[in-house]
Amino acid sequence: MSKRILVIGGGFAGFWAAVAARRVAGYAVDITLLSRAPKLEIRPRLYESKPDTLAVELPPLLSKLDIRFVSGEATELDATSKVVRLVSGEPLGYDRLIVATGSRMRRPQVPGAEEAYSVDSQAEAIALDRRLLDIAKEIKEPTIAIVGAGFTGIELALELRDRLLKHGAAEAAECMRIVLIDRASTVGPELGPGPRSQIEAALENARVELRLEARISALGSNRVSFVDGSNLAADVIVLATGMAAAPFTKQIPGERDKLGRVVVDSTLRAPAAPAVFVAGDAAMADTGDGHYALQSCQHALQIGRVAGENAARDLLGMPPVAYSQLRYVTCLDLGRSGAVRTEGWNRNVELTGTEAKAIKQKINTKLIYPPVDGTAEDLLASSMLDIDKRYALDASR
Ligand SMILES: Cc1cc2nc3c(=O)[nH]c(=O)nc-3n(C[C@H](O)[C@H](O)[C@H](O)COP(=O)(O)OP(=O)(O)OC[C@H]3O[C@@H](n4cnc5c(N)ncnc54)[C@H](O)[C@@H]3O)c2cc1C
Repeated sequence: MSKRILVIGGGFAGFWAAVAARRVAGYAVDITLLSRAPKLEIRPRLYESKPDTLAVELPPLLSKLDIRFVSGEATELDATSKVVRLVSGEPLGYDRLIVATGSRMRRPQVPGAEEAYSVDSQAEAIALDRRLLDIAKEIKEPTIAIVGAGFTGIELALELRDRLLKHGAAEAAECMRIVLIDRASTVGPELGPGPRSQIEAALENARVELRLEARISALGSNRVSFVDGSNLAADVIVLATGMAAAPFTKQIPGERDKLGRVVVDSTLRAPAAPAVFVAGDAAMADTGDGHYALQSCQHALQIGRVAGENAARDLLGMPPVAYSQLRYVTCLDLGRSGAVRTEGWNRNVELTGTEAKAIKQKINTKLIYPPVDGTAEDLLASSMLDIDKRYALDASR
């Protein structure tokens, strides 16, 4: 029987892991990618309009490389017998496993949080878009509350007026009240002071109201309640409250960080399960310069590629390569104020306004997409790209 590599998760990390594994292992090894749905969701764009268009079909791409796609939900890992069990369907065996099950938004532990909107997955972003469409038709002066003034909350807040405009609701877009709520005392606390003045100016220009140092106690369908006893009436409540590793990572034996990510070694192997490699938002990986990868597309693309390469190398008895990712940049969309691009872990501002916006648009519409019209060779070659170089000028987050 041929040797088998199984990848769980069809996001950025899982897709590139499968392609890189094929490049290294050649066609004598069976490679299977298991994911909930046959699409790569372009999560970094889900704050934008037309969320129904923000995914790439996986099977046509994978079939070019003879990678089998299985649609299903992994529930259990037996690392001793090397078997993954699914909600339904036959269990899948493997010789090397790559877990790339990504992340999902952490909903706050308050009553009503489950019913609030979000842009965490394509389905959730589509549900929000439908609600915005209803609002465009029905409400002249809508209020939208966004809980979480981090990267996603800021980008969404700055996009909303134009999204209502695109739904043909000029009056509602003009009169809309957008309230951005956070328990922190500043916007974008995790982005540090570097880009803060640009972010604050953009929020002011877009008439986004800030409610900082505000702790929510409950969410209703039309109301945000705060710990201090006050309430905010809102037509839509959207959560942007940060991410944690998806639940399947709990199945991997070994240490985890506070985001639930598996602590991996420098080759992205799970130390307590030697046939298992972990990639993307599921992995707590040292970038090689004393920092840890963030739950970001920028890191997932590179970690996925290295995890796939190492799973194949390990299977073939070749020495592994170390994961490293020394360049780190962010590019935050500021809506009509353009964008702000920073360099390095201190997030020193390098570009702003329309120049930064052009880079953000290139990232969102080109750089994070696989070469959908390319040949098998194009795909294999892309899995070899040095992401540090490729993204040195253009990466985000
Ligand atoms: C609104 C938003 C904006 C963002 N903006 C940026 C940005 O500007 N820049 C940036 O770098 N990053 C950004 N990110 C983060 C980025 O999208 C993630 O870091 C990236 O998607 C991680 O890739 P991944 O492959 O590790 O995981 P994911 O993209 O989460 O993919 C995981 C895949 O695994 C599947 N899966 C999970 N569990 C199972 C299971 N048990 N069985 C089968 N399949 C399973 C999922 O369905 C999914 O297909 C943003 C995220 C969001 C939500």
